[in-house]
Amino acid sequence: MPKYSLSRAAPGDVGTAAVTNEIRRQQALLKAGALQNAILNSPNFSIIATDEKGIIQLFNVGAERMLGYTAAEVVNRINPSDMHDPLEVEARARSLSLELNTPILPGFEALAFKASRGIDDSYDLTYICKDGSRFPAVVSITALRDDYDELIGYLLIGADNSVRKQFELELTDAKATAEAANRAKSEFLSNMSHELRSPLNAILGFAQLLASDAAPQSDNQRESTEQILHAGWYLLDLINEVLDLALIESGKLLLSMEPMSLEDVLLDCQSMIDPQAQKHRVVMDFRPPPAPMFVRADRTRVKQILLNLLSNAIKYNRAGGTVAIEVSVRSPDRIRITVRDTGAGLSPDKVSQLFQPFNRLGQQAGGEEGTGIGLVMTKRLVELMGGVIGVESTVDVGSAFWVELVRAPRPCFAHGAPDVPPTHAVPAPLDCELRTLLYVEDNPANLKLVQQLIARRPNLRLLTATDASAGIELARAHLPEVILMDINLPGISGIRALKLLREDPLTRHIPVVAISANAMPHDIRKGLEAGFCRYLTKPIRVDAFMNALDAALDTARAAPMRGQARQDEAS
Ligand code: MN
Repeated sequence: MPKYSLSRAAPGDVGTAAVTNEIRRQQALLKAGALQNAILNSPNFSIIATDEKGIIQLFNVGAERMLGYTAAEVVNRINPSDMHDPLEVEARARSLSLELNTPILPGFEALAFKASRGIDDSYDLTYICKDGSRFPAVVSITALRDDYDELIGYLLIGADNSVRKQFELELTDAKATAEAANRAKSEFLSNMSHELRSPLNAILGFAQLLASDAAPQSDNQRESTEQILHAGWYLLDLINEVLDLALIESGKLLLSMEPMSLEDVLLDCQSMIDPQAQKHRVVMDFRPPPAPMFVRADRTRVKQILLNLLSNAIKYNRAGGTVAIEVSVRSPDRIRITVRDTGAGLSPDKVSQLFQPFNRLGQQAGGEEGTGIGLVMTKRLVELMGGVIGVESTVDVGSAFWVELVRAPRPCFAHGAPDVPPTHAVPAPLDCELRTLLYVEDNPANLKLVQQLIARRPNLRLLTATDASAGIELARAHLPEVILMDINLPGISGIRALKLLREDPLTRHIPVVAISANAMPHDIRKGLEAGFCRYLTKPIRVDAFMNALDAALDTARAAPMRGQARQDEAS
């Protein structure tokens, strides 16, 4: 039982000062007593004290409230382990014996073992109440010793852990929900990419056919076709940008970091951006780095970043303006590329909004196309590669966008040697020789498009199938030189069909080109890993398609072996 005594002021013969002291002492005692009382009577903690054998000696109000027993029902009768789930007590005893390499201790000894060795201990165990209900508790246990350091019992202070457990449970649930939502989002993006690309493939494919048709066309027709193509490719850019951004935001973008020459990448960008500059009558001033410089980065993404900055610098320039590109070393491990334009410049408040998605800073009215995603994505990409992006701008003078990338030592091997087309030590095809192709595709518009493209080559014969089983049968019967294969097919997928073709000695050697609207990077990777000799994404670019086809035909002629795996994106 709790011991706290209240002394009474002795009446009678004491001096005034002594009386005052005595009153102060008593007030302090009262206060301490009230505190002790409040602690022991707190309904929020179960306070249980036992003797040295573990038999309960003290059972406070909180313990009564939590466990439903009155003190009288437990004091001198049971020990605390009797109120826990016996299986949990056993499990704790087992893990303790493993931890300390001792025999398994029974009941309360397992709970008190560490405390008895002077180690303050706490455990998470389920309490079972008098009415059989259960709740998770976190219990601290301490040994109690007398003035001679003799063990006289244990103090157990327990709190109801239900709220925390519930919270943990909800957290786990929420995490699972978020993960599921994230998976659903990725899947949705993949599907959307596919769904949007398929019709766009037809639009762009047939417009390309029209544009390259030998038949005479009126200016009007030609212009209409150009409009369709322009809008179509622009729509494809938008789709790619939105998907790219979503990919970055979901942390799924994979970068292939390698040392790369800045000069190479700048030259590439220069040749790609020149037509746009000429169209806008903007002078490009590429200043090559004074010495060869290398950065550690993803080549494709660096190009994307620079092209975005260059394209903006041209778009938002004035006619006759200039765009200057400089490379400078900022620190031993950083290289800065600056793209400086002579456009209208940006006010400080506009600069602060620059890197927000879909914020085009009032350019919507300016007649320049754009999603406002470009800079956001550029920033994300730069940061993913460990770099920094920034801008300095002066109204009426122009803006200078810069990116800093991580400097790399000159690589031992020439990385990214330009794509030299393989020299074909094969006899030139005879004009009259008829070569057979097979196209497996379930979408009638795509089928028709490829049929019309192939029809322009009189030496090519096209077999078609609308599902993989029919395709495989045709392949076995006719042994085409090249197979073009859609991935998303009813029934057997294009990837599975490829496996089946590879398993058959008859068709094993035939190069198979994937043509798919599954255009996410992981789709392409999966496809190339599966063994497609090339992976073309829809919408088809007519020249890229014809080049891939010719290369596959060369491969087929060169040897009955697999072509060099490479990726050709139509976008
Ligand atoms: Mn399909």
